[in-house]
Amino acid sequence: MMKEQLIFLNGQFVSKKDAVVSVYDHGFLYGDGVFEGIRVYEGNVFRLQDHVNRLYDSAKSIMLSIPYSKQELSDLVVETLRVNGLLNAYIRVVVSRGVGNLGLDPSSCARPQVIVIAEELALFPKELYESGIEIVTVATRRNRSDVLSPKVKSLNYLNNILVRIEAGLSGVNEALMLNDQGYVAEGSADNVFIVKNGEILTPPGYVGALEGITRNAIMEIAHNLGFLMREEVFTRHDVYVADEVFLTGTAAEVIAVVKVDGRTIGEGKPGAVTNQLLKEFRKTVVEDGVKVYEKQIV
Ligand code: PMP
Repeated sequence: MMKEQLIFLNGQFVSKKDAVVSVYDHGFLYGDGVFEGIRVYEGNVFRLQDHVNRLYDSAKSIMLSIPYSKQELSDLVVETLRVNGLLNAYIRVVVSRGVGNLGLDPSSCARPQVIVIAEELALFPKELYESGIEIVTVATRRNRSDVLSPKVKSLNYLNNILVRIEAGLSGVNEALMLNDQGYVAEGSADNVFIVKNGEILTPPGYVGALEGITRNAIMEIAHNLGFLMREEVFTRHDVYVADEVFLTGTAAEVIAVVKVDGRTIGEGKPGAVTNQLLKEFRKTVVEDGVKVYEKQIV
């Protein structure tokens, strides 16, 4: 029999059917809150501390006070995995402003709601890593950094959702977003990298992208493997003429892009650098992480 999934909601574990929030929660009414997506590999939570730090930075930026210390929240993530007996999982941590009245003013919200959901991971299909994916550039621009900073992982994901809708209209699942000046920023849920003449480039944070945890891990791995790795501003043209293009994210890990706006990238299949980085990344993730179980089950 399948074990019933338990979700942490406001101080206790409840069954999935009981894990409901009020329609007066400002996370629901206004997208007022922050979140994280975290991954667990064979009982190791990948870069938990980095995710928790980013969550607290996002919360600080929107003046949302998380009612737990960072250590308590990290322990909660681990506890959620334990009560569900999960080894390979995707975790969603949500902190919303909480239940208030219908007005915008967050001062009506007495207490933030903290939610931790851990699910068996639905892996990206293996074929996608073998074939690579096609993407397009969409008309929707990345939020300007001085409006709602893309560095804040807020519950307001409309910018990204509009990108997904546009991508879907073009028959693809992911897209490139440009910033307000036309420079390449990121995907709807992934950071972007290009490889040219052995050098690896990704847009710097100020162009308007989330500082992806996977992005940072890949930058470190690339550096350790001896690649020239730089943060640099680039345009669509640079993407079209790159030898390789790939995306990084908690869900996607490292995925090759083989076609952009109808232009075939490199030889139209995942390149050697992308493959090497993915291989190295998958090696690191099982070694480097917070252990959920004292005695690993595997
Ligand atoms: N950009 C956006 C907009 C995202 O939502 C995500 C996924 N969290 C990423 C990039 C990749 O970040 P990470 O590697 O931390 O998952």
